[in-house]
Amino acid sequence: MKSKIDNIIQQEEFSKEDLVRLLNADAGERKILYRKAAEIKAEHVGKKVYYRGLIEFSNICGKNCHYCGIRRDNHNLKRYNLGDAEILKAVEFAFKNRYASVVLQSGELESAGFTDRIEKLLREIKKISNDQLGITISLGEQKQEVYKRWFDAGAHRYLLRIETSNPELYKKIHPDDTKHDFNRRIECLKAIKQTGYQTGTGIMVGLPFQTLEDIADDILFMRDFDIDMVGLGPYIEHRDTPMFEYKNLLLLPEERFHLALKVIALLRIIMKDINIAAATALQAIDPVGREKALIAGANVIMPNITPGKYRDSYRLYDNKPCTDEEAEDCTSCLEARIHMAGDEIGYGEWGDSKHFKKRKLPDTGYPE
Ligand code: SAM
Ligand code: SF4
Repeated sequence: MKSKIDNIIQQEEFSKEDLVRLLNADAGERKILYRKAAEIKAEHVGKKVYYRGLIEFSNICGKNCHYCGIRRDNHNLKRYNLGDAEILKAVEFAFKNRYASVVLQSGELESAGFTDRIEKLLREIKKISNDQLGITISLGEQKQEVYKRWFDAGAHRYLLRIETSNPELYKKIHPDDTKHDFNRRIECLKAIKQTGYQTGTGIMVGLPFQTLEDIADDILFMRDFDIDMVGLGPYIEHRDTPMFEYKNLLLLPEERFHLALKVIALLRIIMKDINIAAATALQAIDPVGREKALIAGANVIMPNITPGKYRDSYRLYDNKPCTDEEAEDCTSCLEARIHMAGDEIGYGEWGDSKHFKKRKLPDTGYPE
């Protein structure tokens, strides 16, 4: 069995069957997988970890994804929307602490007012940092002209998870309406890429009804779409969401955690020079989950720099970590843990996706 895994990971190309076999790796075998991913990481992207200061600036959302704690119909939480001054204060924290990049993330709104506000904020972030801060945004599905305006205002990376590349499963985990349409998600990802962003996507690992074959297809989807960045983590249930009723179908949290690490390792092995973020959801299951992801191939961490008083309200899932801390508290312990994982922090460096730099633009890279 062991030699079989050894043989498969030496291949340059992987079939869906190979991926399913690797996703099935047991506790002994997955170490071989992580070791290979670590080798490829060291060779292709190096041992530096790049910080993106994450600002979850609003939990107001117009959508109703069945898995998400801040979905529109969850009335069991306080809605908030940070003022521009509060957002810019968090930006200044990132800048002063040489994070080099920030991520603006929120619930999803499509409106002229929202578009204008973000555009203005992006220009302001560029201004106060003398163009030195890199900006990633994760603001969901928007019209192509909106993506373009935000790109022109200074954002240069965009994260939009596909969540699952299986349209049937996508339908099961979202309301069946035009606001939650799989094809629109694909169109948005293409528009993001065509606009010129470094394009990031990802999935939730361990969803109810998700099979290893689905996850293998997700990996192939990301390869074929030729993405530049990935943000993925385990699905974690939230008691105030419709999907909570399928709790009994879930793998154990530790199993979901290890499956997510295997997906990270496989993406590193297959896509070599992309950026891979160690998602916060990993930390919800294992306190040093993000650092374990670094060992399995990830090279980006998004320390949460949202003002502490709002964190509890951006509760996407139960047990979300660091909800009662301020940015500084997280930063000091994180640095020590990253060193323990054998990596160093690329302070003051954007750490853009090497993959992005290599690929030709504009090109959706995805079969029409
Ligand atoms: N609204 C934007 C969007 O959906 O792209 C950005 C914010 S949304 C909260 C960011 C990500 O959180 C989603 O892409 C989803 O994968 C993840 N998420 C939501 N609920 C989750 C859950 N219960 N477990 C794990 N991840 C979750
Ligand atoms: Fe809104 Fe994003 Fe949560 Fe869906 S995943 S409900 S779009 S915040």
